[in-house]
Amino acid sequence: MGSRGIALVGMDVKKLLTLLNKALADEWLAHYQYWVGSKVVAGPMKDAVIAELLLHATEEMAHAELLTTRIVQLGGTPILTPADWFKFTNCKYEAPVDPFVQKVLEQNIAGEQCAIGVYEKLMKVTKDADPVTYNIALQIITQEVEHEEDLQCLLEDLKLMFKHSAKK
Ligand code: FE
Ligand code: FE
Ligand code: MG
Repeated sequence: MGSRGIALVGMDVKKLLTLLNKALADEWLAHYQYWVGSKVVAGPMKDAVIAELLLHATEEMAHAELLTTRIVQLGGTPILTPADWFKFTNCKYEAPVDPFVQKVLEQNIAGEQCAIGVYEKLMKVTKDADPVTYNIALQIITQEVEHEEDLQCLLEDLKLMFKHSAKK
């Protein structure tokens, strides 16, 4: 990274790189969880759920891209092997072993809530110390908040549908 740019970082760069790599692990696992979820999900409103899962899969990969660009800029090395995703992850991986729409939505909502916490923390530690990383975390958390809401709305619609069909 440029020397003036690195001088802008008023915190332990090694510690920052660890946080960025941990978030990177989360993003790749989230990407795959969404992507493979979209392939196996089954049940009512399947088409709407698949469209949202696939879009989110793409957006999680874009988050991985933002984080990796920053890691390299800071002179770090992004996680080089998928096995390390499991060592670094904050939010873990929930395999969609039960493909029922409700279950898949609930798993991904939990993932988004974890992600929001991760970027909330990253914003806290970079707020006055690293405006560039702060801005990246802000961009990403904005989208994670949107993801959570998208999935919770789908889940609400699904539950309304169950309630109505139970009344008949
Ligand atoms: Fe993400
Ligand atoms: Fe997300
Ligand atoms: Mg969405």
